[in-house]
Amino acid sequence: MPDQVIGPIALPKAGSRATGEFTFSGDAGLEKYRWPFIAIRGASDGPTVLITAGIHAAEYTGIEAAIRIGRTLDPTQVRGTVLVIPLLNRPGFYERSIYVNPEDNDNLNRLFPGRADGTWGERFAHRLLTEIVTTCDSAIDLHAGDLIEELTPFVIYRQTGDAALDARITQMANAYGARWAVRSAPTGERPGSLYAVASLNGVASMLAESGGRGLLIEADVARHVKGVTNILRSIGALAGVPDLVKPPTVVNSFDWLRSPVEGIFHPRVAVGHMVKKGDVVGELVDLVGEPLATMHAQTSGVLLFIVTSPAIKKDGLLLAIGGLDG
Ligand SMILES: [Zn+2]
Repeated sequence: MPDQVIGPIALPKAGSRATGEFTFSGDAGLEKYRWPFIAIRGASDGPTVLITAGIHAAEYTGIEAAIRIGRTLDPTQVRGTVLVIPLLNRPGFYERSIYVNPEDNDNLNRLFPGRADGTWGERFAHRLLTEIVTTCDSAIDLHAGDLIEELTPFVIYRQTGDAALDARITQMANAYGARWAVRSAPTGERPGSLYAVASLNGVASMLAESGGRGLLIEADVARHVKGVTNILRSIGALAGVPDLVKPPTVVNSFDWLRSPVEGIFHPRVAVGHMVKKGDVVGELVDLVGEPLATMHAQTSGVLLFIVTSPAIKKDGLLLAIGGLDG
C-alpha cells in the first residue's frame, strides 16, 4: 500500500517523483481513458499543490509547461506535494478538439462542480473535483489561446468573499508575473470553471493564459514555467526566494464580443492593443466579400484575446476586451 494517495493517485515516497496514469474506476465511460500524472513528493512537509493543464485540449503551451514543471522540479527542493495532471481533456487531445470534449461536445471548463449521474463531462468534473482538487491546498490551471485564438498573457481568479482565502489567491495570481489580471466576482459571468469552483470549495486557485494558435513557442512555455515556479516559491511549496514581480493590472470587466452574422472576419486590432469604446475592431464580409457588419469595441480597455480563424458562425466568438473604464 502506498503511504499516501490523492484520490486514485498513489504518491511516491518522500523526496521522490513518480509518473503514471490514473482513471476514475466504476464508471465505464470514464474508465475508457487513462490520464497522465507526475507527482513530486517533497522531502519536507508543506502544502499540496495541484497543477493542471489541457482542460482545453489544443492549448499546448499549458500542457507542455505542466509536463516540464513535473519533470524538472527537484523533489529535494519541494516542500509538501506537487501533483501535475498535464492533460485533463484526454478524449480531445489527439482529436485536436477546439474548446470542447468530443465525448459530449461540451466545454469541460463550464461544467464544474459537475454531477455524479450526469453527462460524460459532468461526471468527469464531479470526480476530478471531489476526489482530487478539493484534497489540495492550492491549484493552478494552465491555459493558452485555443487552436484558433491569440492572446496577450493574463491570469484569472475568482473572489470568494473569504478574506483569508482571497488573500492566498491574490498572492498566487500576483506572483505569476502577468501584465493583466481578470478578477471575477462570486457570481461570475462564466460559471462552471475549474479555477472558480475550486476556489468556492476552499482551494486557493487561479488560471494562467500564455501562448495559443496551436503553436509551441518556447517563450510562451517558459512564461508559464517561470510563473508557476514563482508561485510555488511564494506559497512555500518550493525552496528559494520568490522573484519580486510587478502585480498585474486588474481589469474591471472581461467583455466577450460575438458576431451578429455568419461571415469572414477581418480584425483591425491585435492582442495587447488598447482600444476605446466605439473603435472599429473588425469587419465581417460574406463569401463574395460583401460587407455584412462592422464591429466596434463594446468597452474601453486592452484586447486580451482574438479569434485568428476568419471563419465565424453567427454568434461566434471574435475577441475579448479587458475593461479599463473609470
Ligand atoms: Zn483554455
